[in-house]
Amino acid sequence: MSEQPPSESVSTASILEQYERFVIGNYSRTTLVVDRAEGSYFWDLKGRRILDLFPAWGCGAIGHCHPRVVNAVREQVGRLIHIDNTFYTVAQGRLAEIISRRSFGGQCFFCNSGAEATEAAIKIARRATPAGRYKIITMEKSFHGRTYGAMSATAQSKTHAGNEPLLAGFTYVPFDDVEAVANAIDDETAAVFVEPIQGEGGVRVPSDTYLAELRELCDGTNVLLMFDEVQTGCGRTGRWFAHQHWNVEPDVMTLGKALGSGAPIGALVAREEVAKALTPGSHATTYGANPLVVSAAIATFDAIEQEGLLDNASRMGDYLREKLPAIEPEPGLFQEIRGKGLMLAVEMAIPVAPVVAYCLDHGLRINGTQETVLRMLPAMTITTEQIDEALGILGNALVETTREAAHA
Ligand code: PLP
Repeated sequence: MSEQPPSESVSTASILEQYERFVIGNYSRTTLVVDRAEGSYFWDLKGRRILDLFPAWGCGAIGHCHPRVVNAVREQVGRLIHIDNTFYTVAQGRLAEIISRRSFGGQCFFCNSGAEATEAAIKIARRATPAGRYKIITMEKSFHGRTYGAMSATAQSKTHAGNEPLLAGFTYVPFDDVEAVANAIDDETAAVFVEPIQGEGGVRVPSDTYLAELRELCDGTNVLLMFDEVQTGCGRTGRWFAHQHWNVEPDVMTLGKALGSGAPIGALVAREEVAKALTPGSHATTYGANPLVVSAAIATFDAIEQEGLLDNASRMGDYLREKLPAIEPEPGLFQEIRGKGLMLAVEMAIPVAPVVAYCLDHGLRINGTQETVLRMLPAMTITTEQIDEALGILGNALVETTREAAHA
């Protein structure tokens, strides 16, 4: 595939003009028009190759266009594109069993995105707890999606600005602070909803006792513990689900991103007792468990298992962490390197936007979040050679941008 010529039958400039006129400008975009992708690389219309340390914003966890996923979707598309949930399909049951057996034995509801999984979690929290319990405690710097419920769950004012009033019932407390959660729980609290490792918030890993203490607190107060594993789930931290690093099981878990390797699928997984609250008619979505995206998700789990990608995520994560300090151009620039497996970040002493821009200009895609955090969610198929290539470009970017900052 990498030998394919670029398909520049239309010019980049004409596409940018077309967007300017016809596409709503709610995203900040680069000027690259992406043509195709494979593994840890993508190519633009001009045939320029970019090494991708952030494939599809976390969706490309087993790399772009993994052959198993491509073949599964190709096979499925000629058999059954969509059928509504009036009927059973082989694929939906199979995927639910795969997820359940690799997590905490719960039952699944399938939807189309991470935000929709959050919506289902909000609904199940209200429905599965006694009448009058509707409040949900979430964490500062969390991210749970952009729909009204998910945005209200997200404790970041920049996400709320201009969209108020929010959905009622959310209380925000600092991340990694069990006492703050304990103080916030009252007779109307239905659930605590937390990312086991905060993603958009800057790849924040909690202290080792945090999730276990939350579990104990929720058990003692009859409050549901719900984990948002949309970004951490499906292997990228080196375990199937990040909460498994701490051996703490939730009552409810949400999934998205990596689950479909880029095919739009989200899921809610709930303990059987809790899952009963979603009775017929209480929740639904037309495209839920669409066979195309479900086949992509099954192929994703197959690939991770059969290609030993959990191990590779751990090994490559360790390799990247070990090598990162060597490219720090001056002491103190890296405040912290943190993460698990292939969910990694460098907290920098300066804004990261110029570093991210330099990297893209020089063939490397990396993400910046929370102003000063360089975030990496590389494909679990990444190799040491690709990591070395990435570190070469990133190292140059750090040297150049700190030199420019010093002369500004
Ligand atoms: N939850 C977490 C932890 C996320 O990182 C995201 C997206 O970045 C979402 C939920 C929302 O997912 P989506 O963008 O698919 O709606």
